[in-house]
Amino acid sequence: MISVQSLYKQFGELEVLKGIDLNVEQGKVVVVIGPSGSGKTTLLRCLNILETPTSGKVEIDQQALDFSGKVSSNKIASFRRLTGMVFQSYNLFPHKTALQNVMEGPITVKKEAKAKVEERAKRLLEKVGLGDKLDFYPFQLSGGQQQRVGIARALAMEPKVMLFDEPTSALDPELVGEVLRVMKELAQEGMTMVVVTHEMKFAKEVADEVIFMDDGKIVEKGKPAEIFENPKTDRTKQFLRMIE
Ligand code: ATP
Repeated sequence: MISVQSLYKQFGELEVLKGIDLNVEQGKVVVVIGPSGSGKTTLLRCLNILETPTSGKVEIDQQALDFSGKVSSNKIASFRRLTGMVFQSYNLFPHKTALQNVMEGPITVKKEAKAKVEERAKRLLEKVGLGDKLDFYPFQLSGGQQQRVGIARALAMEPKVMLFDEPTSALDPELVGEVLRVMKELAQEGMTMVVVTHEMKFAKEVADEVIFMDDGKIVEKGKPAEIFENPKTDRTKQFLRMIE
């Protein structure tokens, strides 16, 4: 479903991704862990071209973009629709209700009919446990509820892949569980997901594969049990000791 080959990303002189190769099969959940600044967020943003890779290939659902040459903005726009992104800081429209936030993308970007979108948006808000909060504005919702709106909003675009960038990092500890629960359900329903998170329990329980990144490279990858119980590199061991 996702294939990344020799992906490089530089910001000016700073080389942030130094040759990433990654494959994610349909329905699998990959959790990306690693120290601050290792390039996790940049990798995720390169998967939906919120950052333009300096070079390399990114393929999702048989649409391939090769950044060794010029890539047209039309191709990027259609590629971006393959993924739904959930951000650390929710990024909801403050002046729109939960329902309006979820309906916005399909109506403005995909030009879908309002009635159809409304039905889907209600179903999705119901699914994330917010069926009774349709008309609430973000400021009337807790962080966990806002983030669940964020997930429903991403799903409303009917993406092939969901990307989560530290979706629970901004939340008070007691609100983390409700967001992780929704993500776990999605995984169980067969959504292909790439998740950057510091929630190691989630990684252990839900990930099919854990990727440890350091200094712009994938240092180690494997099943959660392999990475957490039997890490191979000293760098992984050191990182895991630090976060325990
Ligand atoms: P964290 O866990 O702290 O979020 P991360 O592993 O997600 O870290 P990135 O956010 O991908 O790391 O950042 C990797 C490096 O790239 C950092 O040194 C960061 O300062 C730099 N960087 C990220 N985005 C930009 C940008 N738009 N312009 C310049 N430098 C950037």
